[in-house]
Amino acid sequence: MNVPLILSQFLDRAVSLYGSKKAIYADDRAFTYEELNTRVNQLSHGLKASGIQKGDRVAYLAPNSIEMLEGFYGVFQLGGVMVPLNIRLKPEDYLFILNHSESRVLFVDQDLHHLILPVKDQLKTVEKIIVHYKEEETDETDYDAWLSIQDSRPYDREDLDENDVCSLLYTSGTTGNPKGVMLTHRNNYLHALSTMHHLRVSDQDVLLHVLPMFHVNGWGSPFYYTANGASQVCMRKATPEKIFDALQKHNVSVMHMAPTVLNSLMQYHEQCAPAVEQDVRVVIAGSAPPPAFVTRVEKELGWEFIQVYGMTESSPLSTVSTIRSHLKELPLTQQYRMKAKAGHQMIGCEVKVINEQGEEVAYNGLEIGEVVVRSNGVMKGYWKNEEATMEAIRGGWLHTGDMANVDEYGNIDIVDRKKDIIISGGENISSIEIEGALYEHPAILEAAVIAVPHEKWGETPHAFVVLRIGKTLTEQEIISFTREKLAHFKAVTGVTFVEELPKTASGKIQKIHLRNDYWESKGIAGRFV
Ligand code: ATP
Ligand code: MG
Repeated sequence: MNVPLILSQFLDRAVSLYGSKKAIYADDRAFTYEELNTRVNQLSHGLKASGIQKGDRVAYLAPNSIEMLEGFYGVFQLGGVMVPLNIRLKPEDYLFILNHSESRVLFVDQDLHHLILPVKDQLKTVEKIIVHYKEEETDETDYDAWLSIQDSRPYDREDLDENDVCSLLYTSGTTGNPKGVMLTHRNNYLHALSTMHHLRVSDQDVLLHVLPMFHVNGWGSPFYYTANGASQVCMRKATPEKIFDALQKHNVSVMHMAPTVLNSLMQYHEQCAPAVEQDVRVVIAGSAPPPAFVTRVEKELGWEFIQVYGMTESSPLSTVSTIRSHLKELPLTQQYRMKAKAGHQMIGCEVKVINEQGEEVAYNGLEIGEVVVRSNGVMKGYWKNEEATMEAIRGGWLHTGDMANVDEYGNIDIVDRKKDIIISGGENISSIEIEGALYEHPAILEAAVIAVPHEKWGETPHAFVVLRIGKTLTEQEIISFTREKLAHFKAVTGVTFVEELPKTASGKIQKIHLRNDYWESKGIAGRFV
């Protein structure tokens, strides 16, 4: 008989094999797997006593924390659906998501509670707000006090089907309004099995959560580290200084992060050269293409670098850039170039790059097509949005909206989002390629390239640049630099210097804001709006 693939099994395994081992550290607190499990049971009992039933949505607005991890397993064994909220939204956004998801309970961290207050009266379905680390006198429930009075015996689990939805994750909103992605136990379970294999996760690992758990990239990782009895470390805020401190304090072995965060770690390391004795074995970058610093991560920090590619709609990961052993004979420079690509399909995923005729592109690194995915991780659909679901999943394949080529070794290289490609004089130009060139300049810390209107060519590339501290550069110097590095038609034609770039909570640069502001300032309705 088949065993249903239910996520609670991961915690069960860790409790039975690693019960007295520390499961999670956060600030000055830490819990063993047994202690964590007791709190998880209390949470499920408490929710049930509050009337929460199978299929009900339970929202979380919290930074990476013990309480957030408890939420995962406490909500799941009850058959509930977890709705993690991005902590960097505005009150109106929370109002939209909480009403749209029809969440019945909201767990909120004390520091974020003020974001809910302005819209509290307009919440249509939320019956109870429970505050983590409650300090203020309000009529909301205090989490610790509430948890401590709940039954701590093992929870008599609901009968769950592996195809039941367990999470409703809203997309990053990089390209517009976030959409609610329905993921099932089976999606997350098989994604976890595949990822733990590719990242070689073991009980020796200590994961430092750098990506937010509310975001799909951070969301998936607790499953595969729990299943293997690894330890997890949470920080309320991940600054480079705190990250380096935590590496040493907890003997961290693995981190997942967006390339922009890795970039800021490199800069911090260069400036302060923190003398850390650390055991990081691997750093996994994803959610956006890596700038050209893979070599430095491996050579200067001594951390293995792995690039992954995915999206909320696919749980998220679909490809991984590890180098197969028979290719380790290739020159190192070529291996580093390969590592910066999205790589190849993971176990349980079929990933193709197809042209407009629906045929796979040639494996020559030249032909560009759209990435399509068929995998165990692909979502059940967008919540209450059948039209968008049918648009995204066609003929059984998830259409990602990402453009890529495939090299002779079968490695997929993301060229750009369809929406970010610059069309100049009929040529398609990858904004990512130009950003890659800009990142090679020693004075440039961050760069984002967008299409701007041009009378003759239709559009041309324009760069937004953040300089490294103490460095100066002129617009003309940057234009000339890109003309040296790239074909002339790909060179930027203008530069705007900025102190920082708009980013999502997981660290992705939101080019949509740069583009809309630029086009609007010229009084032109962009093709993107
Ligand atoms: P929204 O869909 O709301 O606009 P989003 O697409 O940024 O936001 P996510 O699901 O978090 O939301 O991100 C998935 C996207 O991130 C992918 O479609 C791709 O464009 C980009 N991405 C992820 N990993 C990589 C990578 N390794 N290289 C390049 N791009 C990546
Ligand atoms: Mg998307």
